[in-house]
Amino acid sequence: MARKIVWTGLTLLFVAALVFFLGFADLLSDELSPWIGTLPNDPHKAALAIMKQAPVIVHLPYLVRLAYGNNVSAVDLETRMPGHVDIPRLRKGRVGGFFWSAYVGCANPEEEGKDFTDATWIVRDTLEQIDVARELISKYPDTFQLTTTSREVEVAISNGKIASLIGIEGAHQLGNSIAALRQYYALGVRYVTLTHICHNAFADSCGYLPGIKPLHHGLSSFGRLLIDEMNRLGVLVDLSHTSDDTASQAILYSKAPVIWSHSSAREVHDVPRNVPDKVLRLIGKAENQNDAVVMVNFSPFFIADEGMANVQAVADHVEHIANITGKAHVGIGSDFDGIGDTPTGLEDVSKYPDLIAELITRGWNKVEIAGLTGDNLLRILKGAEKTARHMQAVGTAPIYDLYPKRPDLPLRQDDL
Ligand SMILES: [Zn+2]
Repeated sequence: MARKIVWTGLTLLFVAALVFFLGFADLLSDELSPWIGTLPNDPHKAALAIMKQAPVIVHLPYLVRLAYGNNVSAVDLETRMPGHVDIPRLRKGRVGGFFWSAYVGCANPEEEGKDFTDATWIVRDTLEQIDVARELISKYPDTFQLTTTSREVEVAISNGKIASLIGIEGAHQLGNSIAALRQYYALGVRYVTLTHICHNAFADSCGYLPGIKPLHHGLSSFGRLLIDEMNRLGVLVDLSHTSDDTASQAILYSKAPVIWSHSSAREVHDVPRNVPDKVLRLIGKAENQNDAVVMVNFSPFFIADEGMANVQAVADHVEHIANITGKAHVGIGSDFDGIGDTPTGLEDVSKYPDLIAELITRGWNKVEIAGLTGDNLLRILKGAEKTARHMQAVGTAPIYDLYPKRPDLPLRQDDL
C-alpha cells in the first residue's frame, strides 16, 4: 500500500513536471532548453544542441591510399585535408562516429577471370586499408577510438571521442573466402557491403549506370552462406551497391537487421544506386519485413538532376525514405571523401548541422533527429549483436564451405 502511494506520488510528480515543461517551454531560453526536453526556436541552434548529445555517424572512404600511398605519417588530420574530412571539420560538424571504409575497388574483369578467382592481390590491398584505418585511429587517440561493439560506440561518444567502425565495401574484398571474413572480423571489421559496382561470387551488384546484366539474379548460394556467417559473427550486412534482387533477397534472408551505408531514394531521383520503394517496403517490424536503416548518400549524381543537388534535395530523400519506412529507419551516410562533387550547402563534414536544421524546420522532433544522426544505426548494431549472441549460444557452427569454383583446394570432406 505504502509502495503504491509512493509510486502514485512519483507518477504525479512526473506528469506535473511534463505539463510544466510543455506549458512553459516557449518561455525558456535557447541555451537551457535542450536539457529539459525542448528545442531552441532557431533551427540551427536546435541542430547543434541535439547533435551535441546524439552525434552523427557517417561513412568515410579511402583518400589516404590514393593521395598518400598509405603513408600514415604523412597524413595530418589536424590540419585541412584535401578532401571533405579532417579533425577540425569533424568537430565543427558534431560528428560523433563514422565508418572507416577499408575499400579496394573491383578488379577489371579480364584480370579477375570469369569465376572471380584471379585477383588475389585484393585481400592484400584490403589488409593494407584496414591497417591504414587502424593506424590513423591510433595516431589520434584524443580524437578517435576504434569501436567494435555498440557499447564501445556509446562509451566513446560519451567520452567525447569519435567512435570508429571499420568495414569493407564489397565482398569481392574477401577473395571468395568466408575464412577471410572471420579474420577481418578479428581485425575489427563490423560491416561488409555485399557488392561494390561489380558482381562477385556472393551476389549481384546494381553497377553504376543502368543496364548491368544480372549474374546470379540476386544472392548466390555461397552468398547465403556468407550472410549466415556474418549473422553468426555479428558483422552488419550492408546492401548499398547491390542489385534490387540482391537487396530484397538479403533483407529477408538475414537473421539480423541490415543497413544501407550510403544510398538514397530512387523515387526521388531515378538512378540504380538508390533504393526503390518496393525494397523500402521490406523494412519494418512486420512478419515479412526486417529492421534496417537506410543512410542517405550525398553524391549529387544520386540526389538530383545536374546542378540541383542542395540541402533541401538531400532532405527530400531523407523524408521520402521516412515516409515509407518510418523515421526510425533513416540515417545519414554522406560518402564524404568517397564522392567527387558535393551538394550545395553540404560541402564537407562540417555542414551536417545545416541538414539537421532543414529537417527541424520541416517538423522533425528531437527524438527523431537523434535517431537519424546515430540512434537508429545503434539499434541495428545492437540487433546484429543480439542475433550473433543467440546463434552462438545455440551452438551454430562456423561456415567452412569453400567457394565451389576454387581450383586450389579440395572441397569439404563430406562433399568429396
Ligand atoms: Zn560506395
